[in-house]
Amino acid sequence: METKAHEHTHERKESWTGVIISAVILAAGLIAEFITNTILIPHLLYLAVMIYAGYPIAKSGLKALLNRNITIDILITIAAIGATAIGHLEEGASVVFLFGLAEKLEDYASDRARHAIEELMELKPLIARVRRGGEEIEVPVSDVLPGEVFVARPGDRLPLDGVIVEGITSVDQAAITGESLPASKDVGDEVYAGTINIDGFLAARVTRASEETMLSRIQRLVEEAEESKSPTEMFVDRFSSWYTPVVILVAVVVAVAPPFLLGQPLMDWVYRALVMLVIACPCALAISTPVAMVSAIASASRNGVLVKGSTYIEQLAKTRIIAFDKTGTLTRGELEVDGVSGADPEDVVKCAAALEAQSTHPIAKAITEKSESLGLRKEIATGFKNYPGLGVQATCSGEEVSVGNNRLFKELGIPVDGNPVLDGNGKTTIFVSRKGAIIGSLSLTDKIRLESRGSVAALGRRGIQVVMLTGDNESTAKGVAGKLGIEHYKSGLLPEDKVHEVESLRREGVTVMVGDGVNDAPALAAADVGVVMGAIGSDVALETADVALMEDRIEMVTYAVDLSRSAMQRIRENISLSLLVKLGIAALAMFGLVSLWAAVAVGDMGLSLAVILNSMRLGRIKPGD
Ligand code: ADP
Ligand code: MG
Repeated sequence: METKAHEHTHERKESWTGVIISAVILAAGLIAEFITNTILIPHLLYLAVMIYAGYPIAKSGLKALLNRNITIDILITIAAIGATAIGHLEEGASVVFLFGLAEKLEDYASDRARHAIEELMELKPLIARVRRGGEEIEVPVSDVLPGEVFVARPGDRLPLDGVIVEGITSVDQAAITGESLPASKDVGDEVYAGTINIDGFLAARVTRASEETMLSRIQRLVEEAEESKSPTEMFVDRFSSWYTPVVILVAVVVAVAPPFLLGQPLMDWVYRALVMLVIACPCALAISTPVAMVSAIASASRNGVLVKGSTYIEQLAKTRIIAFDKTGTLTRGELEVDGVSGADPEDVVKCAAALEAQSTHPIAKAITEKSESLGLRKEIATGFKNYPGLGVQATCSGEEVSVGNNRLFKELGIPVDGNPVLDGNGKTTIFVSRKGAIIGSLSLTDKIRLESRGSVAALGRRGIQVVMLTGDNESTAKGVAGKLGIEHYKSGLLPEDKVHEVESLRREGVTVMVGDGVNDAPALAAADVGVVMGAIGSDVALETADVALMEDRIEMVTYAVDLSRSAMQRIRENISLSLLVKLGIAALAMFGLVSLWAAVAVGDMGLSLAVILNSMRLGRIKPGD
């Protein structure tokens, strides 16, 4: 037989009016008992409460029982009937009334914990101002197609995702990133549904239909994450499923053994057994883990950290090692070409740019920008091939061109000696070859995120080992690691080498990999938790990550660890509190020291509320050491 006691909160939705009516009748009964000397009137009033408030409980309890589920509904029903049978009608009525009240309060509290999703929903405007046929008209967002242009005035919440075609403004993206500092936006920049246009007027071309916006995806992913179950949750579920039958069995023994074996008064022991029945519900225990997980996932999403499931909360809490990718993660990934060598430097840039126009690597962006700033003619390359962690190759004006690091040319068998190597001082050298011979080289620099230094130190203080993995050369790696205070690093890694590194780190302990999704996706997948930075605007990053940081902020990794550790702490507290209180009530019940109504008030309502409130404290953890 299965127990699904914790689901009692979703079955029946009673109204507050119902609870108040029961309270009034119950109070009338207690007063009547006090002022009259017949017990008939109070007993009729108690019966009224039990029938009025108890009928729906009994009905759903029986329904569940027919499906072979023991729920708290049936336990409460038995307790009320049992109490009546042994003449404690006031107890039966109190139990039914308190249980109704408990459910209302629990509903209220858990609704608040789940509120994050509804908050996200509210951020989506339902109407967009769209330009159609030379006019601006208001249409429901669901009718707007990609390619159409919407407009927003200062103060408007944006209805859809789009690319700005007109206007300069700043946008409050807190809805998605959790970052409250406004982001400045110009023509060509992406804007997102749910964010607020602050200063200027803007017109943007819609890029995604309304169900596909960043906000909608985040919302869907958070919902899925909240549904998912972590190992701890599954363990607690299994535990709950035999907890109830065992306690019921004990209750039966308590009811019959002492009277029949030891000649004790039957009524007393039946009463004690009824108390035990009430605490046989694992309610608080069953919600101990999910409520904390939902609370953690929801509050993370409010801070721009999308955790794709409670399993990752558990893993993050256990993290021993965090491996960072270099380019685009520890560095800004906004490289600049600051030196070109070769017989004809412009030819070198033009040639390289033709290939890099088809690559998504940060290096590629730097080279195409350089070519544009020099005003060079754009050439078209065909047969483009990408060698992750090495470089790119294609045909350009009928000739084979390769662009990449010295390891690429070693593999191609093209000697690079004699060409200046500017590696070191954080510089990266990229060679360009045509028809099998080097024609020149480019040197690039990246900006280190110096603010990451603080995060590296903060992780160290938490006993987490920080490692840097990079495909770049040794001297650049050394320079970056030194500036950020990272002791351990590995350079010259191809994407598959990064996977092997992550695998060997995992043998030492739970390993998190943080990357930008460029050339490190396999390593992210190999780690216990793959964290992708800068997921805003990147569909792939959002889909592949276990944890997605909407913005490029390393300190959010520390926040995610802190939040997860607290979540696991709250869960441990919830579980031990539930077990202790239930055991305590059971022990006291044996000696006849707990009344039925107190068992419901403390063991069911009180405990569940305590667990919910304790879990909601997670919302107070904020990013920033
Ligand atoms: P990281 O591990 O630092 O993020 P990657 O694995 O993405 O670096 O790339 C490693 C190296 O491979 C780069 O430093 C560069 O030398 C070379 N490389 C990768 N992609 C390209 C490209 N599109 N053009 C030129 N070189 C590239
Ligand atoms: Mg990278």
